[in-house]
Amino acid sequence: MKNKKNIKEINTFKETRDEIVLKTIELIKIPSVNSKPTKKRPFGKGIDDALKYILTLCNDLGFRTKYIDGYCGFAEIGEGKEMLGILVHLDVVPEGQGWSYPPFGAEIHDGKIYGRGATDNKGPIIAAIYAMKSVLDSKMKLNKRVRIIFGTDEERKREGIKYYLKKEKEPTLSFTPDAVYPVINCEKGNMIFKIKRKFIKNENEKELKVIYIKGGTRANIVSDYCETLIEIKSEKLISQIDKKLKEYLLKTGCNIKMNVNKRNITLKSFGVSAHGAYPLAGENAISNLLLFLNSIKDLDGEIKSFINFYSKHINHEYSGHSLGCNLKDNVSGDLILNVGCVNVNTHKGELLINIRYPVRYTSTVVYNCMENVLKQYGLKIEEIKDSKPLYMSEDNYLVKKLMKVYSQIMGNNMKPKTINGGTYARTMNNTVAFGPIFPGKDAHIHEKNENIVIKDLLLNYKIFKEVIKEICS
Ligand SMILES: [Zn+2]
Repeated sequence: MKNKKNIKEINTFKETRDEIVLKTIELIKIPSVNSKPTKKRPFGKGIDDALKYILTLCNDLGFRTKYIDGYCGFAEIGEGKEMLGILVHLDVVPEGQGWSYPPFGAEIHDGKIYGRGATDNKGPIIAAIYAMKSVLDSKMKLNKRVRIIFGTDEERKREGIKYYLKKEKEPTLSFTPDAVYPVINCEKGNMIFKIKRKFIKNENEKELKVIYIKGGTRANIVSDYCETLIEIKSEKLISQIDKKLKEYLLKTGCNIKMNVNKRNITLKSFGVSAHGAYPLAGENAISNLLLFLNSIKDLDGEIKSFINFYSKHINHEYSGHSLGCNLKDNVSGDLILNVGCVNVNTHKGELLINIRYPVRYTSTVVYNCMENVLKQYGLKIEEIKDSKPLYMSEDNYLVKKLMKVYSQIMGNNMKPKTINGGTYARTMNNTVAFGPIFPGKDAHIHEKNENIVIKDLLLNYKIFKEVIKEICS
């Protein structure tokens, strides 16, 4: 027979479980998609409603709370100079189409709560709040404050956290449950830039003239489409190009279609889209087309040189080897390069490139490594973005503590992770991503039918609770 204490504990857990599910549902039902800003609501009504809802909840639970000018907010328990931060975000990406259940309905089916933001990031927010509440109720003496910080613009420019850092104290150390388990201790640097040159001469005497080459939508996506328009002087060239194309397709297996309209040839190249952090998973339509064009002899001189550069120094490589920037280190591995867009016309040639560089390097080193090759072709760099790498060693206090709790609860001995992408952790110092998605699980983040498995939601609660106890006592 169960004794009284056990029954009390079980009942408390049942109540907590029901509360966590209920509050997650309520929060999902607030459609906190970025919308038209007003003076008091910099990210629109939905996000402001979610921020006020969550601060009211935390206040009711007995936390100290602060609403910071509509940009962000926090809720806090405990005393002490030092502070453990839990960084989360209330905004969600737009719902998109094709859902099996209403995206802001938060319906439960097969043990999962369905809704936009269920895993990214609302379920984990509620799990973290109730973890704090449980520690607060236990009357345990904490040697640090625990502060949950509510970001509001993670999915766009992360302005909410930038505002927080201007106005408030940065926690001593933090984790953000906005990625996957176990701990991500290594996030590669992420730079975006253009390689470009102007075309000055107009070589009309050539048999073939490239009017444009256009492909790709974003730097960090492997392009699945690219097309070019070529003007020819004499029609006899059509059959030559057609023959060459057939040979090329046979040899490479890629998919390029040719349309002829009098003296205009259009070539349409089809590839397979993928995330720029993992370009091997896709097939770059730009590379396929430019490598074919490189095999045609009679192109204009300057465009020819641009295409020649591509073929010699980029080709199908993802490592940056022939560009001279194939950097690697022993903690995060190889540099990864993705050509996201091409934009060529009779006046200029441009490539938009995304590089994920190893954590022990900087973007300046990467640029310097490419300099020699680019000079030979008269190419210039236009820097667009650099998000610096994140790295904490496996011996780091925070990494060790988080791994310890994870291993204890999950009963396995995993190693911290390296990723090519970036997480919310980069917005603050001494912060790592930790959860909420368990290895091998798919929560359909940013897709239709996003959900959170209720069991996983409660497991997150349990893990966060132990993390607070481990780090703050
Ligand atoms: Zn997120």
